[in-house]
Parts: sequence; structure tokens; C-alpha cells
Amino acid sequence: MATHSVEVVYRGIFQKTLAKNITRGIVLAAVKQGKIGIAFGRYGDSPERNGIPAKNFAIVADNEEELQASMAQYEPKSVDLTVALDDTLCKGVESWAWYGLQPINRLTRPGGYLLVTTMLDFADLLQMAHAREQPYHLALVRGLPSFSGLWVYKDDHTDVRVLGAVSRLLPDLVSLEAVEAAIRQEWKSEQKVASARKAYERVEVMAVAPGVGDRRRPYEFELPRWWELREGVTIPAIVPGEAFPDPTTGAVGGWRPARNPYFKKFSTRTMRPVIDFEACIKCTLCWLQCPDSCFDVTPDGYYDANMEACCGCGVCEAVCPVDNCITMVNEAAFTNNDSQWAAWKRDREAYRAWVREKIQHRPERSHGFQQRGQYERQIREMAAAAVGGPAVRERTGG
Ligand code: SF4
Ligand code: SF4
Repeated sequence: MATHSVEVVYRGIFQKTLAKNITRGIVLAAVKQGKIGIAFGRYGDSPERNGIPAKNFAIVADNEEELQASMAQYEPKSVDLTVALDDTLCKGVESWAWYGLQPINRLTRPGGYLLVTTMLDFADLLQMAHAREQPYHLALVRGLPSFSGLWVYKDDHTDVRVLGAVSRLLPDLVSLEAVEAAIRQEWKSEQKVASARKAYERVEVMAVAPGVGDRRRPYEFELPRWWELREGVTIPAIVPGEAFPDPTTGAVGGWRPARNPYFKKFSTRTMRPVIDFEACIKCTLCWLQCPDSCFDVTPDGYYDANMEACCGCGVCEAVCPVDNCITMVNEAAFTNNDSQWAAWKRDREAYRAWVREKIQHRPERSHGFQQRGQYERQIREMAAAAVGGPAVRERTGG
């Protein structure tokens, strides 16, 4: 008698079909073993938006009664396996509700697994994932972020590779043979069966001890108590913002807009802008065009993208008229949200070196709208790597 649950955390829209294929594939495979299960989704936002963290679940039980018992809750409180389909989700997940930032491993049961599709190493991922008090396992399926959503279909075998890895990590949930049978039925491809088997053989696993990971406390909101609630529905206005001091000269000026403290912060971001202030001509275009009013106007008239607010859309890079003044870089290459402008003001030489180092992590990622032919090339590479061809070309930082 056992119930198993798996959550698949994905980037809304971009990976929607991918996440659905995985949870559906788990249930189909389990049914092949005489079990019963259900796969369902829970939006990270409503409506589901580009890049917003969202979840799909697969729950598998030995019988109907057990399944019904586990379904009597909104979502599992604890899962045997968390799958992160984009490694930058390891920095945390903001759901649609007012929870603040949830660690990616928050629902992973003690001793359970966090499976990440990534080109990064264990150490890189553990810098991002929040530390826990209980041990768990970190598992890796090698691959670039896969986009297989509503607007883009990128069939690079990530779905079946994750299924193969699931059967290796949770053999009590589903066997490799059952996964292979489900793939034959659903995808009708022996190449995909081979991909699942390779992932089963190749998945890398590391035991993570308590306390290992990002030890910072994820931000959370102070929710009002019931006696503090106001009558009716009220939406407080956002105050306009204010000038702020230059960390080196102490001169006060510029403008930092106040921001809704409850609005999503940075967990939608898979890339962030890196700004070369020495190239900036102060044209204001980035400030005008940023959809999330991210830019703080600094006391000396520069535009500092505030990383607590940036969603990583890349519009600022697209509109900046100066070559290489704004460069979108893989989010996985950063460990904090500190002000770039403040760092530049403090030490220009060190900042130049920092920019040089960071822009080496220029992405393959983006959401794929970057280069014509990018998808076709990546699909060929990933599918070849999945079935045992050459290893994936390069580590891209994400
Ligand atoms: S990437 Fe640029 S335009 Fe987009 S939210 Fe961030 S700062 Fe604004
Ligand atoms: S768009 Fe580029 S040049 Fe113009 S203010 Fe922004 S960073 Fe500077």
C-alpha cells in the first residue's frame, strides 16, 4: 500500500506541454503496472504567463481509496520527487498566492529527490537551492532548458528523458519497463524509448546533507490577521517613490519608484541585464520601455535595473541604441540581486572585470526568440545527446 507524488515545476507557457507530458507519462506508466493515478496542473499565476513558475502534479496509488484520500487536498504537502525543468527555478518559486518565495525543495520529502534538467554542476545548483534541515538527493539530467509549451513546440526528448530518470530514482513508483511501454503507446518512437533508457543509465545523483545550499531565508510576506483586515476589497495605492543617495558621494537625487511589495519579484527571470555604465549615453530608452518599471534613475542620471523587480524580459537590451551597453546574461551566473550601479560607483576597475566575466555567460537560453534557426539546431543537438551521440556542446551556465 503506497501513494507516490511527483511535482513538476516549470516555466509557464514555455514549458507547459513538456510538464504535462511528463506527469501524464508517469501516470500512464504506473497504470501499466496495475496502479492508479492522476495528473493535474496548478498555475503559477492566472492566467498562466510567460516564464511564471507553475506546477504539474502526478499522484499514483495502489488503489482507488488511497488515490481519493490523497486527492482530498489542494496539492500534496510533500512529494517524493520535485522536477525542476529549468535550473534557474532552483533559486525559488513564487506562486500565484501571497506566500513569498518558496524554496524549490520545499515540498520534497526528507530523503526525497530534486531532479533538475541542467548543464550546471551540483555545486552551482546548491548555491541556488535553499538549504533544508532534512537531507534530500539532488539528481541531474543533462540538457539545455527545453521549451515545449503552447507557443513553441520543441521536441528534444526532455519529456521521455525525465521519465527514464524518474524510473531510476523512484523504482517503487514506476519501473523502466513500464516507462518504455508507456512511451511506445503514447509517442510511438523507439528512439524515444532509447532516450529514456539512456537517461535511466546516466542520471547523476548526489546526497545533500542538512544545511547545504543557499542559507539565506527566502523572503516572505506579513499577512494581515483576520482582525486587521479592512472592510470590503481595498487596494492601497503605491506611493510614488523617492530620491536616494549615491553610495560614494552621498549626493541625494534621481528617483527610485516605489514598487508593490506583494507583486512577483524575480522568480520569472531566466536571464538578467548586465549594464556597462561607461557605454551608456543616458538616452532613457531602457527606462521608458521596461514593462515592470525596473529602472532606478540614479542621482548621477544613469539607469540602474533593479534586480528585485526585473522579470528578465530582455526589452531593455533590445531597445538600447548602444552596442553591448546592455547584455542579457544567464540568471544562473548570479548569486545576489545587488545594484550594479552601486558596484560600478564603488570600484570601476573591479566592475569592468565583473562585466567581462559575466557576459561570458551570454545565453543560448532566452525564450528561444533570439536567433532564427536556434530551435532547430538545439533540437538536433539535444536529441543526438539523448540517445548517446556526442555530449551536449557546451556548458552555457544554464
Ligand atoms: S530585462 Fe530589462 S526591460 Fe525587462 S524587466 Fe528587466 S530591466 Fe526591465
Ligand atoms: S537604453 Fe542604453 S544607452 Fe540608453 S539609458 Fe538605457 S542603458 Fe543607457
